[in-house]
Amino acid sequence: MGFSQQILDIAAQAEKELAPAFAEFDRIAQVNTQRVLESFREHRVSDSMFGGTTGYGYGDFGRDAMDAIYADVFGAQAGFVRYGMVSGTHAISTVLFGLLRPNDIMLAVTGKPYDTLFEVIGEGKGNGDGSLADFGITYDDVALLPDGGIDFDGIAKKLEEHGARVKVVFIQRSKGYANRPTLSAKEIGEIVSFVKARCGAYVVVDNCYGEFCDEAEPTAYGADIIVGSLIKNPGGGIAQMGGYVCGTKRAVELVSYRLTTVGIGTECGATLGQTREICKGFFFAPHVVAQAKKTAAFASYMFEKLGFAVEPKYNEARHDIIQTVQFGNPEGLCAFCRGIQKGSPVDSFVVPEPWGMPGYADEVIMAAGTFTQGSSIEISADGPLRPPYTAYFQGGLTYESGKYAIMTAAESLLGEM
Ligand SMILES: *Cc1c(COP(=O)(O)O)cnc(C)c1O
Repeated sequence: MGFSQQILDIAAQAEKELAPAFAEFDRIAQVNTQRVLESFREHRVSDSMFGGTTGYGYGDFGRDAMDAIYADVFGAQAGFVRYGMVSGTHAISTVLFGLLRPNDIMLAVTGKPYDTLFEVIGEGKGNGDGSLADFGITYDDVALLPDGGIDFDGIAKKLEEHGARVKVVFIQRSKGYANRPTLSAKEIGEIVSFVKARCGAYVVVDNCYGEFCDEAEPTAYGADIIVGSLIKNPGGGIAQMGGYVCGTKRAVELVSYRLTTVGIGTECGATLGQTREICKGFFFAPHVVAQAKKTAAFASYMFEKLGFAVEPKYNEARHDIIQTVQFGNPEGLCAFCRGIQKGSPVDSFVVPEPWGMPGYADEVIMAAGTFTQGSSIEISADGPLRPPYTAYFQGGLTYESGKYAIMTAAESLLGEM
C-alpha cells in the first residue's frame, strides 16, 4: 500500500477542490435514478419478467417492458434493448442500414465518426464488401471548427448541396478517439433544430458514453435516434453484452427491421434469462455513471498537477465519462495504461502491449482489467499510438476503486519519468 507522499498530497487536495463537482454529479444521478424508478413502477417491473423466454420469444413481457422503459427514461417514443447486439458498432450499424437506402447520403456533422464505423461506411482498410458504400450509399462529413464548435455554416452548405438525398444526419456525442470536446444533450438539441428547419433527414446520435451524464438524453431534445452499448453507461456494469436504440416510432420501427427482419421487428427475440441483468444494470447505471465521472474528475486533477494537458479540466462540466490525458510520447501513454491495468480488479498482473485491433486504423494500447471483457463503464484506458499520444480513460464501477487505479497509474508514470 505504498503511494508516494507526492501522490497522496495531490489526492487529498483533489478531493477538497472537487467537492462541488462531486455534489453536482450526485445531483444528476438522483434525478436520473428517480426517472428510472418511476418508469419501473409505471411498467410494473416484477420478478416474473426476469425468467426469460426461449425460441421465438413470443409474449416476452419482460423484454417488452424493458423496451418501453428505455424509451421512457430516454424521452423517446419507442426503443429496444437487446443483449444479442455484440457491440456499440453493431447497434450503430443496425441503425444506419435500417434508415439508409441506395443513393441516400449519410452526413456526419461532428467530424469523422468513431474509428470502427469507417468499415461500416466503406472508408476503412477493407475492400468495402457489405458496407454502406457497397449498397450505393454515400458518406460525407462536416468537420468541427478548430475550437471544437459546430460548423453550422458548413452544415447548411452541405445540406443545400446534397438536398433531399441526405437521409441521415449523424452526430457523435462523445469525443471517441478524437481530440475534441464532448457535446451536451442540449447542444445536440441545437443541431437537431438547425437540421430539422432545413430538411427531413433523420438525426442519429451515437450516444456512447453519454447516457445519464446529463439530466436528459438527446432524444428529449428532438433527435430521431440515439444508440449505444450496454457494456458502457446504460448497462451499469451489470449487463454483460448488448445494445439499445431509442427514438421516434417510425425510425425505431425501420431500425427494428434490420435488428431482426421485416415483418418481425421487435416482436421476436428470446431473452434467455438476460432481462434481470439488463434491468438491474439500468437501475445501477445513473449511480455508476456518477462514480465514473468522479473518477474522471479526480484523474483530471491529478494529471494536470503532474504537468499534463487534460480534457476536460477537473472543474469543467462533464457530458460523457471520458477523460483524456496527453502524454506527448508513446512511453508515457503505455506507462499510464499499464498503471491502470495494475490498479484494476481483474488481471492486475497483466502488462498491456499495443496491437493492431480489428476495426482500428492505428495500433492501440488498452488497459481493461474488467469483470466483463472490454467493458468501458468499468475502469479502462486506451489510446491509439499516434501523436499526441493521448490516453482515453473512462469508467470506474466505484469511485474508491477508480481513485485507486488512477493513483496507481500516476505512480507508474512517475517511475518512468
Ligand atoms: C465505444 C464507442 C462506439 C462503439 O464501440 P464498440 O466497441 O463497438 O462498442 C462507437 N462510438 C463511440 C463514440 C464510442 O465511444
